[in-house]
Amino acid sequence: MRLIIFWILLVLLSSTLSYSQELQTIAISGATLIDGTGKPPLSNAAVIIEGNRISKVGTTETVLIPLGAQRIDAAGKFVLPGLIDTHLHLEMVGLSDVGELPPQWNKPEKLRQLVLTNVKLNLISGFTTVRDLASTDLVLQVRDEINAGRIVGPRIVAAGMQLVKKDSTAQKQPIFLEYDGPDRARAMVRSLAALGVDVIKIRLTHSRPIPSLEEVRVIIEEAHRLGLRATVHTDVPADDLVKLAIDAGADGIEHNAPLRAKDEQILKMMAQKGMSLMAQSGAFWLQRIDTTALIDSLDPSQMKLYPDDVLSALHQGIDSVHRQTQQMKNSGWDARRRQASFIQEVRRARNAGVLLVFGTDCGAYGMVHGQQYKALYGESQIGSSPMQAILMATRDAAKALGKSNELGTIEAGKLADLIILNADPLIDLRNLHQVFRVIKDGTAYDPAELISATK
Ligand SMILES: [Zn+2]
Repeated sequence: MRLIIFWILLVLLSSTLSYSQELQTIAISGATLIDGTGKPPLSNAAVIIEGNRISKVGTTETVLIPLGAQRIDAAGKFVLPGLIDTHLHLEMVGLSDVGELPPQWNKPEKLRQLVLTNVKLNLISGFTTVRDLASTDLVLQVRDEINAGRIVGPRIVAAGMQLVKKDSTAQKQPIFLEYDGPDRARAMVRSLAALGVDVIKIRLTHSRPIPSLEEVRVIIEEAHRLGLRATVHTDVPADDLVKLAIDAGADGIEHNAPLRAKDEQILKMMAQKGMSLMAQSGAFWLQRIDTTALIDSLDPSQMKLYPDDVLSALHQGIDSVHRQTQQMKNSGWDARRRQASFIQEVRRARNAGVLLVFGTDCGAYGMVHGQQYKALYGESQIGSSPMQAILMATRDAAKALGKSNELGTIEAGKLADLIILNADPLIDLRNLHQVFRVIKDGTAYDPAELISATK
C-alpha cells in the first residue's frame, strides 16, 4: 500500500515538474516591436511567452509581467517574428554548379555533420523556420531529431526528394524521384508521404521531358488529399511551365519565371488562385548585382563552424560566381539594367496581388547558410520596402507554408518563435544580422553560446 502511495506521489510530482517546465514564462520588455502583421512598430513593447506560446502582447504599461518570469530587458532593441526561408537546401553548403565538396564529405555520416552545421547557422541567424525543397531522407531524420529535442535547430518543413518526369537518358540523382504516367505519379506522392515529408516539390524543366497536365494534376490532387502543399520549380523564363503549374492547381511557384512572364495573365491567375511566388530576387541581387556582398558572406565568426576544407571549397565557389558574373558583364549583360527591370517586375507582381515570399535557394550558387539577411536586404534593393521584405519572410512566408495560424506574426496564441535584434532592421535590413536572442518554441538562445556549443 505504502509503495502504491509512494508511486502515486512520484507520478504526481514528476507531472507537476514537467508541467512547470513546459510553462516556463519569458517576459521581453522595452523593445520596439515589429510584429509581422504590417502594423507600424510599437515602442516600449512587452511580449509574454508561456511555455511555447505567446500569451500577451502590448506595451509595458498595459501588460503585467508575471511573477517568476525570466525577464529579458530589451530596451533599445527590436523584436520581430522568427524569420522564415521558404526555399533552401540543408544538404548543400552553397556550391551547386559553382564547385564541388571535397569527396570525403559525400558520405552520409559526413554529410550529416554539414546538415547539422547548416541547421545551426540558420537558427543563430534568426531563421526559426526553414523549408528544405529537395534532399535525401537525411534532412527528414534531422527534422525529427530537432522536433524530439535531441538537436537544437529551426523548424524544418521538408520536401524530401523532388518529383521529376522520368528521363531514361538522364543520370540518376539521389534527390530526384521519377514518375511516368498518372498512376506512377500518384504512387510516388504516396511513397513520399509515407516517408513523412511535409510538402511536395515538383520540378518542371525543359531539360527533361515535360509531364502532361494530367500527371501534374494527379500529383497535386494526391498531395492535397494527404494534407500536403505542392510547390513547383520552373525554369526561367518559361511561360508554358508556369501555366502548367497553375492549371494543375499548384500552391506556389519557385524562382522568378512568373515575374518575367510574357503572358500578362500569369500573375493575375496566380493572384486569383492565392498562389505564392518565391522569386529569389534578393538572392539574385546578392549573386549577380552587388557581388561585393557575396565575398563577405563568409562571415568569419559563423564560418568557423565549417571545417577548413569545406570553407576553402566555398571560397572557390564564390570566386567562380564572380567569374561567371564577370563573363556575363563582358558579353553585354548589364547588372544595373537588370536591377531596374527587377524593380518593375516585383512591383507588377505585387500590384497584381501575388503573394511574394522570401526564399534564397541557400545551398546553391554561393548562397551560404546563415547569410540570408543579405538576400533579404537585397529584396529592399529590388522593389520592396524594408517592411515589405520583412513581411515576405514572416507573415507571408507562413501563409505560403499553410502555417498562418501558428507562425509568422507576434500575436497572442501563436507559437513563440521570435528574434531580438540589437539594431533597427527598418533603417537597414543588414541589421537583421545583429541577433541578440533567438526564441524558438518558447526557448531563448544566445547565438554566441550556440556557436561555441559543441552540439
Ligand atoms: Zn532549390
